[in-house]
Amino acid sequence: MTNQVSVRVPGKINLQLSVGPLQRDGYHELATVFQSVSLFDELTISETDTDGIEIAAIGKSTIPIGGENLAYKAAELMCNKFDIETGLLIKIKKEIPIAGGMAGGSANAGATIVGIDSLFSLGLKRDEMERIGSEIGADVPFTISGGTAIGTGRGDQVTPVLSRGSYNWVLALSTSGLSTPAVYKECDRLREGLDISKPHVSDSLLQALTHGDAKTLGKALSNDLQAAACSLKPALRLILDVGIDYGALGGIVSGSGPTVAFLAESEDHALDLVVALTSSGVVGNVIRVAGPVPGARVISNT
Ligand code: ATP
Repeated sequence: MTNQVSVRVPGKINLQLSVGPLQRDGYHELATVFQSVSLFDELTISETDTDGIEIAAIGKSTIPIGGENLAYKAAELMCNKFDIETGLLIKIKKEIPIAGGMAGGSANAGATIVGIDSLFSLGLKRDEMERIGSEIGADVPFTISGGTAIGTGRGDQVTPVLSRGSYNWVLALSTSGLSTPAVYKECDRLREGLDISKPHVSDSLLQALTHGDAKTLGKALSNDLQAAACSLKPALRLILDVGIDYGALGGIVSGSGPTVAFLAESEDHALDLVVALTSSGVVGNVIRVAGPVPGARVISNT
C-alpha cells in the first residue's frame, strides 16, 4: 500500500491589520492579529512511482495545478531540503475561498509542510516548519501554528496571543476574489500625500482577547486595507452595513478581502445573522464558523 497522509488546515481572518507606509522594496511593514477559524481545506499527500510533484484539485475548484500552486512550491522546497526523491501526489479539497483574504493558498503550503514532515517521519518541530513556511510566503507560518497570534514584519513573525474563549463568526463569502497586490496598490493610491505611521497592534483588541470580551473585541476590529478593498468592490460597504444593522458586534473585511467577517454575541445570534444576511440578498454565501482553532494538523497517516 502507498504511504499516505491527510492534513486538515483552517483559513484565517485578521482581527486587526495595521499597514505601514510603502517601503522602497515595494513591501509594507505589518502588524496584524490573525485568528484561525473553522473553515478547512483537506490535503491528502501520497508517494507515487512516477517522478515529480502532481497536484489534483478535488471538486470544482479552480486553483492552479502546476508550479504556481503554493502546495506544489512547499512540496518542492521540502523535497529539496530533505533529499526526498519519490514522486508525490497532492490532492486538495478546498473549502477556503480562493483569493478571499483568508490565506487559503498559504494554508495549503502550511499543510503540505506538516504532511511531508509526517509522511517521511522527519521529526520537525513546529517552529522549524514555520521557518520553512516563511520561505514560501508571509502568511504560511501562521497557518501551521493557528490559534490567535500577532504577526509582525511582513506578517511572518508570529507570536501567540493569550485569548480566552471561543468566538462566533459569520462570514460573507464572495464568488469573485480580490487580488492581494491590487488591494495594496489601491491602499497606496488612497494614502497618497498622507503621513502614515508605523504599524501597531491595538491594546484594546489584545485586552478584549485576554478577557474573552466579545463586545469590546467587536468594537476593536480594524483593517487598514478595508477602504481599498471597498473601493475596488463597493458591494462590500453594503454587506458591512447590513451586518451591523442586524446587530453584529463588529464587522470587518478580512485581510485583502473580499471575505467579510462579522462577530456575533452567541451561536444563536450567529444563526440569526446568517438568516438576515442571506435574506437581505446582498451576499450569496454566508456561513457560521468558530475561532480560534488549531493550525494544520495530520488527521490520518497510513
Ligand atoms: P492572502 O489572504 O494570503 O492574501 P488569499 O486568501 O486572498 O491570500 P489565496 O486563496 O491564497 O488568496 O489565493 C491567491 C492566489 O493564489 C489565487 O489567485 C490562486 O490562483 C493562487 N494559488 C496558488 N496556490 C493556491 C492554492 N493552493 N489554493 C488557492 N489559491 C492558490
